[in-house]
Amino acid sequence: MIDKAYDILKGVFGYDDFRLNQKQAIESILEERDTFVLMPTGGGKSLCYQVPALCLDGLTIVISPLISLMKNQVDALKINGVSAEYLNSTLDMDVWNEIYQNVVDGNVKMLYLSPEGLASQKIKNLLKISNVSLVAVDEAHCVSQWGHEFRSDYMTLGSLRDLLPNTPMMALTATADEKVRQDIVTNLRFNNPLELVSSFDRSNIRYEIKPKDNGMKQLLEFLSNHKGETGIVYCGTRKRVDQVCEKLREKGRNAFAYHAGLSDEDRSMAQDKFEKEEDIIIVATIAFGMGIDKPNVRFVAHMGLSKNIESYYQETGRAGRDGEAAVAWMVFGLDDLVRNKGFLDRSDAQGVYKEIASAKIDSMLSFCELTTCRRKYLLSYFGEEYPQDCGNCDCCLNDFETHDATLEAKKFLSTVFRTGQTFGAKYIIDVLRGSKDEKLLSRGHDQLSVYGIGKDTPAKEWNFIVRNLLFREVLQYRSLEYRTLGLGPKAVGILKEGESFEVNRPLKKANGSFNKVRKTIEKDGVHDVLVEKLTDKRSALAKELKVPPYQVFSNKTLIDMASLLPKDEVEFLEVHGVGEKKCQKFANDFLPIIAEFNQASL
Ligand code: ADP
Ligand code: ZN
Repeated sequence: MIDKAYDILKGVFGYDDFRLNQKQAIESILEERDTFVLMPTGGGKSLCYQVPALCLDGLTIVISPLISLMKNQVDALKINGVSAEYLNSTLDMDVWNEIYQNVVDGNVKMLYLSPEGLASQKIKNLLKISNVSLVAVDEAHCVSQWGHEFRSDYMTLGSLRDLLPNTPMMALTATADEKVRQDIVTNLRFNNPLELVSSFDRSNIRYEIKPKDNGMKQLLEFLSNHKGETGIVYCGTRKRVDQVCEKLREKGRNAFAYHAGLSDEDRSMAQDKFEKEEDIIIVATIAFGMGIDKPNVRFVAHMGLSKNIESYYQETGRAGRDGEAAVAWMVFGLDDLVRNKGFLDRSDAQGVYKEIASAKIDSMLSFCELTTCRRKYLLSYFGEEYPQDCGNCDCCLNDFETHDATLEAKKFLSTVFRTGQTFGAKYIIDVLRGSKDEKLLSRGHDQLSVYGIGKDTPAKEWNFIVRNLLFREVLQYRSLEYRTLGLGPKAVGILKEGESFEVNRPLKKANGSFNKVRKTIEKDGVHDVLVEKLTDKRSALAKELKVPPYQVFSNKTLIDMASLLPKDEVEFLEVHGVGEKKCQKFANDFLPIIAEFNQASL
């Protein structure tokens, strides 16, 4: 049977090998065992049920909560020649009935349903009379009250067992801690399931985090290394979204805004464009992302701190689902910290919940301030041990210089103390640097012994030190609103007990060239001009078929095509991501372009 699975993998999907745990999941279903699959986003969950669906006789049911994504998934299957359909409330009655009849007649191999759809008697009858060989429950964490996306209609899924007592079930999710996992297995009434838990690591995502000095300028610099690539830029507020979006458009980028303040039409226009186009940037508040399935998002940029590590991991996880190199980039500043703590202060959170939320903000900041492997920290936050340094985060790629900043720390703390712990960082730095500012002079602060004692240290450097002092609780905010600084619990150690204060600063290394390196690796031995022509062809076909370009072929497929230079259909089938159906469908569109190129380069 597993041979058949390999044939389907190659013949239908055009892939040579299974990824980690895919084969085990498929084998388990073929042995009719209930199976739980935990894989990170982009890990390749869909194949875990799509391949057995095609191996087995009869019908596979896929339960999915996101109605908006069903069409997308079904289209992608159809283009590979799989008879897949969906039944949900978005369909006209006539179409609905026609598909229903097709299922009854046994002409459908995979049927996608929403959990609420399952409640209807008509669907229940359909399941009873059809030969259902597998039920796959996607986004299975929705079944758990512990999960962050609990849906009450998922609770009824357990009753599928009464309806289909002998059919194996598969549950799939990317977000499940131990409690959620138990809930899934219990609520779906799994029988001695095989539990497959993959690492949460997204090894193709590179983490890169920098202190903010001029966010917009830093973003533009980052984007200049990502020309022609698709990505998401997250901002903290709607206003900032609009500003950043406008700036990017000014710079000639194909950027669109997405936030709750826009009309429904504008929002769905942006989302639709993002799904269909290449070389597009969505600038968004975190409202954007749910239900985004685009595999070739090359970067996710954050213009400020995420709310917590969980959100950060979810947001950055939207990059690189296709397994190709992608970057999660972030700039963070003290203003973000103030904003996030401010939100918390104004929220209803009380007592222990407030403490937890506050600790989560702190973990996020600790993550940013790391000088050791970021991946290690992230995975350990999710309870996973990562044995070595990853070599694919800025901390691993940079060297750090340790600087003894005890003297600067003392100067700063003294100034905070002597000005009465009632001013913000900028004012303190002004005093230290001997500013002639009117306000400062009128208060007589130029008479203090600390006035001007820090003039040899640039303001930017002082800001860096302040961030470190705050982060390690040597300083603390007395008022978040006015950002006035006071001495923190750790100040006394430095002022009175002779403790030293060290800061780590990244040394500039030939590091920004990562993207260039990636490009040369990707395109080594590949002909750029040809890739461009193949890409144009893909766009034209996608338009004609009304599907996103990546459903025709992924970038990886086009690049592979341009390096293998297939001459006929047999060779075309060798290309990554080309199955039999796509070969039949598209060989005649792409082979002539390659032939013409070969001719021209003779
Ligand atoms: P998930 O649902 O886990 O986020 P998907 O099922 O959408 O991930 O798969 C992510 C991408 O990886 C898709 O583009 C898919 O075609 C591709 N993929 C999955 N399995 C394989 C494989 N064995 N070989 C090559 N590509 C694969
Ligand atoms: Zn690392």
